[in-house]
Amino acid sequence: MSTMVIVGAGVAGATAARTLRSAGFDGRVVLIGDEPEHPYRRPPLSKDVLLGRTAPERTRLWPPEHWAGHRIELRTGTRAVRLDTGRRLVGLADGSELAYDRLLLATGGRARRLPAAEGLEGVHTLRTLADAARLRAALVPGTRVLVVGGGLIGAEVAATARTLGCPVTVLEPEPYPLARVLPPPVARLFASLHRRQGVDLRTGIALERLKRTDHGAFVATGTDGRRWTADVVVVAIGMRPCTALADAAGLTTGDGIVVNEHAGTSAPGVFAAGDVASRPNPLLGGRYRAEHWQAAQEQGAAAAHAMLGRPARPPRVPWCWSDQYGVNLQICGWPEAGDDIRFDGDPDGMDFTAAFHRGGLMTGAVSVNRPKEMRALRERVERPLL
Ligand SMILES: Cc1cc2nc3c(=O)[nH]c(=O)nc-3n(C[C@H](O)[C@H](O)[C@H](O)COP(=O)(O)OP(=O)(O)OC[C@H]3O[C@@H](n4cnc5c(N)ncnc54)[C@H](O)[C@@H]3O)c2cc1C
Repeated sequence: MSTMVIVGAGVAGATAARTLRSAGFDGRVVLIGDEPEHPYRRPPLSKDVLLGRTAPERTRLWPPEHWAGHRIELRTGTRAVRLDTGRRLVGLADGSELAYDRLLLATGGRARRLPAAEGLEGVHTLRTLADAARLRAALVPGTRVLVVGGGLIGAEVAATARTLGCPVTVLEPEPYPLARVLPPPVARLFASLHRRQGVDLRTGIALERLKRTDHGAFVATGTDGRRWTADVVVVAIGMRPCTALADAAGLTTGDGIVVNEHAGTSAPGVFAAGDVASRPNPLLGGRYRAEHWQAAQEQGAAAAHAMLGRPARPPRVPWCWSDQYGVNLQICGWPEAGDDIRFDGDPDGMDFTAAFHRGGLMTGAVSVNRPKEMRALRERVERPLL
């Protein structure tokens, strides 16, 4: 009986385990995750869980009995610490070893930390359910919140904290929030939205120093020398892919674990999927690492087929969504600053789509409060790949 081992029980790993079974694999499937919870959805953590509208247990991917029902050996609270690709063994933190025939690394990422905030108690990051519970408890109405970083998670935390009645300051080193995912003409509209909602959004400013006073408040100093006082600090400066196992085993890594279009890594029998995987970009060349829910899900499913040696539809172009103050944002493809942009609708009224083009190719698209239009836009980005 052959054994499939999956390290990382996020959506990529969990989907792979389930896909192995739905594809008819009858051998052993072991899903190892170092978090104590059963696999859960992260997107609500910065939205409805933080708002208190969704109970943490409602984020579970599947009911607890699902795993045994599908003969998936789910080992939560278990950390893989070693990988021997020659002997095909995964070493666990308790000293035991697991032999595999095929291995999937779906280790995702951890929240990046900020050197200026290192060692300071009470500074939050947001990646896990435990992080969300701690931050939720801290977001009491009236609490002054400083968000360091105006990317998707920083912007969502800012929106949630404002909705909960907290004064919010956001420090973002780029000229606009969401600069990594949205070209400036669209990012600018989200900057205005946050300011209209009362966020003190400071762009072009990074955090230089952070101190805690004797009374427990934080004093933050920006690179422009200005100071802000806050009760709660949230560091939202992105994530770092968990490549430690792969690095130590000598797999090719860069920004993530390098895989081919079939999720195969540089080691035979070892695959990678989800936020940790650096994949070939089928449209623009080069590589990309998606940090999106659906991409992780699709990659997990495709990797399971690859582990079985079966052809699989390659994952689609990345797509993600965000909700800020009830405004639905969806992004697909790889839009960048400098792309030609064609708006359709009312950008100032936050009711529009935007299509991005570069060198004759449609590189990506955005829909704002027009979720139904995203499907056709994504298909247009994918057309040259069909
Ligand atoms: C707060 C938040 C909000 C988000 N909102 C959205 C959204 O609105 N839309 C969207 O598209 N995407 C969103 N995302 C991104 C999306 O959730 C991720 O892209 C997706 O969860 C990635 O799944 P994954 O399985 O690749 O990795 P992960 O979810 O990171 O799972 C990897 C798991 O592997 C574990 N692990 C790592 N190393 C080991 C080891 N050595 N041994 C055992 N276990 C290990 C990790 O602890 C983790 O549990 C959000 C993410 C966050 C954090």
